[in-house]
Amino acid sequence: MSKVAGFLSPLVADETSAEEYLVGFRWPAGVLCPKCGATDPSVRSQDPPLKWRCRSCRRDFTATTDTAMHRSKIGLAEWLAAVWSWDTRPPVLACELGISAPTSRRIAAALEMTEQPPGEGRLAVLLTQHHDLTEAMRARLPATLQPEDNPIADLTSGQRTVMAVLRNRPRGAEAEKIASAAGLTVEHTTSCLEALSSRGYARCEEASVAWGYGSLTVPLWSLDLNDECILALAFLPRRPDPVDRSLPEQVPPEFWWLFWSGSHAGDLRLPEDAFQVACTLLDGPDRVAREWALRCLPVESLQRCRGMRGYDIDPLASAIDAAILERSIA
Ligand SMILES: [Zn+2]
Repeated sequence: MSKVAGFLSPLVADETSAEEYLVGFRWPAGVLCPKCGATDPSVRSQDPPLKWRCRSCRRDFTATTDTAMHRSKIGLAEWLAAVWSWDTRPPVLACELGISAPTSRRIAAALEMTEQPPGEGRLAVLLTQHHDLTEAMRARLPATLQPEDNPIADLTSGQRTVMAVLRNRPRGAEAEKIASAAGLTVEHTTSCLEALSSRGYARCEEASVAWGYGSLTVPLWSLDLNDECILALAFLPRRPDPVDRSLPEQVPPEFWWLFWSGSHAGDLRLPEDAFQVACTLLDGPDRVAREWALRCLPVESLQRCRGMRGYDIDPLASAIDAAILERSIA
């Protein structure tokens, strides 16, 4: 257990405090029945794992019932360590947590399915996932996929990193931006991009990108999403981009065209004009702009928008609620 304590923050030293933490995180206002939502269940067991029985629907439950962590082979302290871990490749998890290779693959798949960076946001998703993550993960891969089929076993770590960055940028990106996201020099990144290009995984195209109300022509690298590249991606561990939590001061120029001419988007200032910006982008035709707004605009502006007519219809309403919840937790 000392290994787990050293691996993680001082948050959880052992199974009992891990369970305590999880109960407080899952039910901040008191334990609720996961099935019917009734409050004040009777306590069935005081020893770990804590067990309750719902007074209303009579169901027994624990802190992990109906979550991705239910009936897991590893303890909650290990789960929390994995949830806070940046490097979630199965061999790393297996080594750091002292767990078996198959278990580490299941944990890594569960973490990847959350599509969240390390921390409480990732934990929040794990707590709401009822389905069997192993099955969900398997369904995304060809049935016959074997480790020896791995087409990227011979890629260098730089090439893998660059490929992972490209996956997070479906619209393509300039080599300098990829280098900065990958934490590599521009020269190294360029040579990785060229290697990926010669294998047919990446391509470079002159693209016209929106800049204010006009456009610029720049060389953009992106993944060449042919079958081989998609198979390769199945073997590439997902590394979430670190989330930038600082609030922006301006609407990015590529979204300016979404604002009608009555207001010049270049004059909009954040956070002062955040509400107006939120109203336009959340409801607009550009999905990337909407995601930027959900991730970057002040939470209060999202909340104010959410209360207005037109923003209370799914799927927009759910997307706003999810963003507010995630960012309030984080
Ligand atoms: Zn109940």
